[in-house]
Amino acid sequence: MKDPAQEFRLGEGRISAYLSVTLGVLSVLSVLAYLYPSYLTTTDLRKAYDGEQLQHVLKYGMYASLLFGMLTFVLNRAAYKKLGLIGVGLTLVAFALGGYSVPVGDVEPRELSLGVDWLVLAFLGSTLIFMTLEKLFPKYSDQLILRPEWSVDLFYFCFNHLAISAILIFANYQASHFDWALSPSVQEAVRATPVLLQVVVIVLCADFVLYWEHRLYHEVQLLWPIHAVHHSVENIDWLAGSRGHFVQVFSERALVMVPLYLLGADEAALNIYVVFAALQAVLIHCNVAIPFGPIKYLLVTPQFHHWHHSSEEPALDTNYGAHTVLFDRLFGTYHMPKDLWPAFYGTTTPLPRSVIGQLLYPVNANWQRWERKRRRHSQAD
Ligand SMILES: [Zn+2]
Ligand SMILES: [Zn+2]
Repeated sequence: MKDPAQEFRLGEGRISAYLSVTLGVLSVLSVLAYLYPSYLTTTDLRKAYDGEQLQHVLKYGMYASLLFGMLTFVLNRAAYKKLGLIGVGLTLVAFALGGYSVPVGDVEPRELSLGVDWLVLAFLGSTLIFMTLEKLFPKYSDQLILRPEWSVDLFYFCFNHLAISAILIFANYQASHFDWALSPSVQEAVRATPVLLQVVVIVLCADFVLYWEHRLYHEVQLLWPIHAVHHSVENIDWLAGSRGHFVQVFSERALVMVPLYLLGADEAALNIYVVFAALQAVLIHCNVAIPFGPIKYLLVTPQFHHWHHSSEEPALDTNYGAHTVLFDRLFGTYHMPKDLWPAFYGTTTPLPRSVIGQLLYPVNANWQRWERKRRRHSQAD
C-alpha cells in the first residue's frame, strides 16, 4: 500500500530536495572523476564518450542542484530544507574542487580502476529511461520510487558499477582458460556473417550459458543461498535487478565471457550485444506492463522475469532465460500464464534485510543446513 508520507508530490519541496542531493552527489563524483581519471574512470568506457562534451552536462547538473536546493527554501518545508542545504553544500564542494572546468587531458590507462564514470552515466541513463517507462506504463501504479529497501539496492547498483574493471579483469582471466577450445575456422565463419546475424549468434550462445548457470544456482543446494540474495527483493523495479551477491556477479560475467571469447565476433556485434544485454537486464525487472505483442514469445520481457521472481508455486524455479525464452521452452521450465502477473515476490524463506547480512547469508545458510544434517545423522546413529 502507498504510504502518503513517502510519496513525491509537487509543491512540497520533497522532489526538489531529493533532486538537489542526487545531483549534488553526482556532481562531486563527476568532478573527482575529472580530477583523477586514471583511478576513477573505466578504460573501455572512456572511448565511448567525449569528456569535454560531458562537462556541459555537468555544468547544467550543478546549476540544477543549486536551483532545486534553493527551491526547498522557497517552498519552506522544514523537513526538506535540511536536504536542500545538503544538496547545495555538495554542489559547492564540487565547485570548490574545480567544477566543470577541470582540464581534460590524456589519461594514463590503468588496468584496475573504480568505474565512477560508469556509475554516474548508468545512473543518469537508467533513471531517465526506466523511471520514465515506469511512470508511463506502470504495472503497480501504487509502488513508490523510494519503496522499501531501495537504499539496499542502490548500494548494489553502486558496487556493481564501481567494480566494473575488477569484474572484467576477472572475467577475461577466467575466459582465457578456454584457449584450448579456440577454433580459428569457427571464428572466421562467425566473422563472415553479417553483423546482425553475429548478434543473434552471440545472444543465443550467451543465453544458453546463462540459462544453465542460472538453473544451477537454483537447483544446487550449495549455490542457491548465493542467488537467493537476488530473489530476496519483494518490490521489483528498475533498481531491484542490481541486487545480487558479488560471487554471482563475478561468476556470471566470467561464464558469459566464455562464449563471447570463443566466438570471436566483430567488435560492432559485441558492442550491440553488450548494450542490448545491459538494457534488457534492467528492463525485465522494471515495474512496467508494456504490451510487447509477439515479442514476449521470443525475448525475455518484464512479465516473464517477474514470474521468475514469484514466491509461489508453480512459478518457483521457472523462467531461467536471460535473453530469450527459447531454452526454457526447450528444457521444460517455461511459465507464462496469459496476461497474468505474480501476486507475491521474494523468497519462500526470508533473507536478512541488510547488505552485510545478505553478504554473509550463503555462509550462514549452508552452515545451518550442514548442522541440521549432522544432527539428523547423530540422532539416527
Ligand atoms: Zn533466479
Ligand atoms: Zn531478476
